[in-house]
Amino acid sequence: MLLKNGTRVYKSIGFKITAWYSLSVFIILLIASGFLYYRLSHKLNKEVNHILIDESGDVLQDILDDTLTQNNLSVAIEKETSNAKYFKLSARLLDIDQNTVVCSANFFAPDLKTSERSITHAKNGKFGFDTIRIEGIESPYRLITRPVYIDNALKYYLQVGIYLKHTQKIVENLLENFAMLIPSLMIISIFCGWLISRRSLRPIKDITNATREITIFNLNKRLSIAHTGDELDKLTNTINHMLDRLENSFKRTIQFTSDASHELRTPIAALKTGIEVTLSRDRSPEEYSLLLINNLRVLERLTSMINDLLELSRTDSDANILHLKSINLSNILMELHKKFMVISKTKKITILIEAVPDIHINGDEDLLRRLFSNLLGNAVKYTLVEGQVCVSLKDGESEIIVTIEDTGIGIPETQRGKIFDRFYRVDPSRTSETGGAGLGLSICKSIVELHNGTIAVKSTINVGSTFIVHLPKNHAHP
Ligand code: ADP
Repeated sequence: MLLKNGTRVYKSIGFKITAWYSLSVFIILLIASGFLYYRLSHKLNKEVNHILIDESGDVLQDILDDTLTQNNLSVAIEKETSNAKYFKLSARLLDIDQNTVVCSANFFAPDLKTSERSITHAKNGKFGFDTIRIEGIESPYRLITRPVYIDNALKYYLQVGIYLKHTQKIVENLLENFAMLIPSLMIISIFCGWLISRRSLRPIKDITNATREITIFNLNKRLSIAHTGDELDKLTNTINHMLDRLENSFKRTIQFTSDASHELRTPIAALKTGIEVTLSRDRSPEEYSLLLINNLRVLERLTSMINDLLELSRTDSDANILHLKSINLSNILMELHKKFMVISKTKKITILIEAVPDIHINGDEDLLRRLFSNLLGNAVKYTLVEGQVCVSLKDGESEIIVTIEDTGIGIPETQRGKIFDRFYRVDPSRTSETGGAGLGLSICKSIVELHNGTIAVKSTINVGSTFIVHLPKNHAHP
């Protein structure tokens, strides 16, 4: 059988809550009934034992009063058994070899063999009790066996018994009541379980319905919080936070797609216009050659931007792209130092390096080379002629700190927080001169985060900027 939402009834939480609730009630009822049954039977048995002790005491008194001839004994026993106040008594007297000496006419089984346990009790001067069931008779029989001493010597065993008709009736009544009460209570408990499950699951139903209504087109919608402070409030809050993150990441993706299309469209449009203008009339071979050179430059920029975009999508995809191994960071920085010394020659920029030799780190060699190449490239790019760039590498206890400091143009305070965003450039008009698309620092940030590190910037306009990278020595996946 299926519920409205397509869940099988027996798989629904409502069914499970009701079933568990009813099962617990059933178990409690069984334990309570068992306990009451046991207590009552025990109490009644105790009462019967008291009566038997009392009645057998009277019989014993009579026996001991008379001279113990066979006839006197019979009379005494018959008298006592017929005089019993509340119960029908029967009695018999056994000699120490357990042969019947005297037996009241109503004794239920004159040939009954007494249990060893009761005889041992009686021999030790105590009372032995037995409950005996006789075929054909509905109610059992309770029998006391007690010693009879004459002149301080054990001479007989006196047995007095009563039918447990009344006590059995009381116990049977109790069981009958239980048999009626338990099914009715079970029906009530199933109903209560169903009500409880419905009440407690209603908020979940509301959350499910509200969540189902949220699509890509209304990602700004949030679930309403009941402010009850319970677990469901927490669940609603968690879902709302997840929606916040989804919405932000969705917005960023849309922004990124539109920025990327825009950035790609501008150079392509420039290429198209250049080609159209050139083809509009016949040109000299020099003019065609100039167009091709210009186009090649634009294509180089486009290729570099596409490579950056690919790099970003690669570092964004997941942390498993890392090829971790122990790498000598000092060597990488030395290599980059040499490379940028050549590049910066035309701008007469001095690049200094204060690197402690042989500092090793567990990381991805290609990505870390890319990280410091971007930072050094920017430092050279945004430093004016005859400026200075200083690279330092410090070996901390658990992390390595790389600082790249330049005497360049600096970054305005208001823009510092944004320079790590994709396609963000402090001065877009300078792009054509410098050739950057605003992706370099976002790639740096992704690489640092993949290594569980941090990147920060300090800067003063027209004085210079310092980029500080902290990398843990032993990279661990988050
Ligand atoms: P770009 O390719 O434009 O350099 P980046 O993402 O590498 O893109 O840098 C983003 C912006 O941050 C740059 O446009 C530039 O304005 C600024 N910037 C980055 N590094 C420096 C630096 N060392 N000095 C001054 N400005 C910098």
